Amino acid sequence: MNTREQQLASIAQEISACQRCSLYKAAANPVPGEGNPFADLVFIGEAPGYYEDQQGRPFVGQAGRLLEQSLASIGLSRKEVFISNVLHHRPPGNRDPLPEEVEACKGFMLRQLEIIQPKILSTLGRYAMNILLPEAKISRDHGTIKHLKNFPFVIFPLYHPAAALRSGSVMTDFKKDFEKLGRLIKLEKGELIMKNKEQPKGAEPQIEQMELI
Ligand code: SF4
Repeated sequence: MNTREQQLASIAQEISACQRCSLYKAAANPVPGEGNPFADLVFIGEAPGYYEDQQGRPFVGQAGRLLEQSLASIGLSRKEVFISNVLHHRPPGNRDPLPEEVEACKGFMLRQLEIIQPKILSTLGRYAMNILLPEAKISRDHGTIKHLKNFPFVIFPLYHPAAALRSGSVMTDFKKDFEKLGRLIKLEKGELIMKNKEQPKGAEPQIEQMELI
């Protein structure tokens, strides 16, 4: 049985040889994702941008710096989490992903999740969120906890950090959501006991009913 590192490296190799859609043609480098194979927390963004394409690494531009600062604010470093994207080659001019590109590429990210088995998946922006939660709206559902049948992890949608950099009000929401994420991580690790008035005595705690605000 291959180790998690080997399995993730094998996916990265597949990505670097992939021609399932045309995005590989104009891209400088594939961006397979990186981080801790045993991460409790995984981030999934939309697609590589200019700097990610140049370096072959996810979230290394301004948005990446905001993500790292936000992680530091809840006591985590980039090395402790895993970061990937829905698309692994850059769409020209950072245009929005096409539905057929998302369809062709999303399997890589889903396989990475199967290998890592995180406790929490934080989607960054609406593209990553809508793959698992097609009915969700980012303006309504950011910073809320979602469960899906057959998915063993909690989904916690966040705005994309690039959107936070473009808008003061989104930045305010992004920071508040990150504070909640910090509390959710402690909760998932059993380091935080939340009070829930509606919960019957002796009942199993239900995360959806717990207040993280
Ligand atoms: S974007 Fe994804 S599906 Fe398209 S060529 Fe790259 S790895 Fe393959």
